[in-house]
Amino acid sequence: MTWQGRRDGQLTVGGIPVERLAARIGSTPFFAYDRDLVTRRVAALRAALPAGIQLSYAVKANPMPALLQHLSGLVDGFDVASAQEMRHALDTPTHAGRISFAGPGKTVEELSQAIAAGVTVELESETELARARAISAATGVPARIALRVNPDFTVRGSGMRLGGGPRQFGIDAERVPKVLAGLGDDVDFQGFHVFAGSQNLRADDICEAQRRTVDLILELADLSPPVRYVNLGGGFGIPYSRRDSPLDLEPIGDNLARLMRERVVPRLPGARVVIELGRYLVGEAGVYITRVVDRKESRGTTFVVVDGGLHHQLAASGNFGQVIRRNYPMAVANRLGEAPDEPVNVVGCLCTPLDLLGDRVELPRVEIGDLIALFQAGAYGLTASPTGFLSHPAPVEVLV
Ligand SMILES: *Cc1c(COP(=O)(O)O)cnc(C)c1O
Repeated sequence: MTWQGRRDGQLTVGGIPVERLAARIGSTPFFAYDRDLVTRRVAALRAALPAGIQLSYAVKANPMPALLQHLSGLVDGFDVASAQEMRHALDTPTHAGRISFAGPGKTVEELSQAIAAGVTVELESETELARARAISAATGVPARIALRVNPDFTVRGSGMRLGGGPRQFGIDAERVPKVLAGLGDDVDFQGFHVFAGSQNLRADDICEAQRRTVDLILELADLSPPVRYVNLGGGFGIPYSRRDSPLDLEPIGDNLARLMRERVVPRLPGARVVIELGRYLVGEAGVYITRVVDRKESRGTTFVVVDGGLHHQLAASGNFGQVIRRNYPMAVANRLGEAPDEPVNVVGCLCTPLDLLGDRVELPRVEIGDLIALFQAGAYGLTASPTGFLSHPAPVEVLV
């Protein structure tokens, strides 16, 4: 894990020991995101990828406005999936032309706002294209569009597949030629978007997906107006358990450099080529801090009860689409480095057995009042959790 920061036996976030951070915030639980870790992550990625590749941040991974402000100075664009995400992205210095709006079921209201703002609308269906054209006709603003293509291949190794086979995402590749033939100059055609899968830790599989995506887009480019934008998707994963190894960026960078040099640049000179990432940019930069409220024994098992739970960090309970429940990495944040003492079950404060944050975790002896840190909480954390369930107050989020 990237969380190396510690001082006097305490975890630090942005250089601040967690007890001090808890005192400054005035309450637990909270999410803390480390600004410097995000900066370093983007820098490492830039160093590995060829210069011609632009980076777009997928806002749904973590839409905290302060984080978006920070990222706007680091990445080239934002990918949004709702009108609210779009407003937050437009509130940063990032130019509207560098913002793309993907996702099925965009409403007429969302489409109208995106078209008026000059955001690139990534169309998910033929009927959505018809709606965008109607809005252009009514408002006099040509819609800036890209076609999201549902590829005719699937990506191996993805934690979540979003392309290949029947999908609610994108227009099936075999239907795209007909759609292209029907385009007129009432729309400002930019290019293509393919997003085939998420949370992939296997570099080879990502490379293969990128090769096939480039093949597909170049084939379609023969039939389309000039292509100015190519969105190759992303899906770079992060490790969530000791069994996971971090993604090896080097082969991905080499593969993209070759694809750019040999295929994309000669065929589509001047096109903006984008990789869009959410989890990989912010996931490891966030930690969820909870305080131990109770400790009890029940028939041979020790339960450590914390003041947070799955209502804030659903993914750590294994209920966010995971097939197999595995413990997220965690630590007693105010006593780092102490030897493990006993296996305990770390549970949240909700009245459901689903609220299990750590199943037989080896931790130093945990006492009431200790702080438990759950790592890898920077992406798909708070906003991917059922905060209304049991009506506890929302946790604070800080960028430090
Ligand atoms: C969610 C999403 C992403 C980000 O996926 P990560 O796995 O977080 O990198 C990228 N593109 C689109 C279209 C998405 O919907």
